Amino acid sequence: MALLKILQYPDPRLQRIAKPVAKIDEHVQKVIDRMFATKYHTENCAALAATQLDLPYPPHITVIDLSPTNDQPLCLINAEIIARKGEQFELEGCMSVMPSHIHERVKRAAEITVQALDRHGKTITLSAEGYMAKCIQHELDHLAGKLYIDHLSALKRERIRNKISKINKKT
Ligand code: ZN
Repeated sequence: MALLKILQYPDPRLQRIAKPVAKIDEHVQKVIDRMFATKYHTENCAALAATQLDLPYPPHITVIDLSPTNDQPLCLINAEIIARKGEQFELEGCMSVMPSHIHERVKRAAEITVQALDRHGKTITLSAEGYMAKCIQHELDHLAGKLYIDHLSALKRERIRNKISKINKKT
């Protein structure tokens, strides 16, 4: 299966806003399959959002699998956070903000309730906490055109940008 290219910051396409999925047809199923294939092929990749991939009109889809055995795929379509509780302040990294040793703490809700469609079009309501809650919030930010570094101060973001451009110049 053809893998998708993961866009890299500061690619402006990372600011695109995902298109809500109106109909889960064969084309959408194929996009989901390619997203999962790309996710499983990429080392240390917990999840991917369609907007961080080289897709022309990225749909509102995120694929997640936090299991070490890669056998608990979770696909959320048109996902929306309907409740938040508490706070966490944990390290985050991103497949679109490489290299992978770049990590910063981001303030997120500790617990969330999400409503979404699964890949068969069934409405699901999901409660998540800790790592999974952090991950879903990070992916839904992507689908709204936002990166985790957008939560940081301008100074910190600038430092990361400089670090990345220095590394890119070397290679
Ligand atoms: Zn990310």
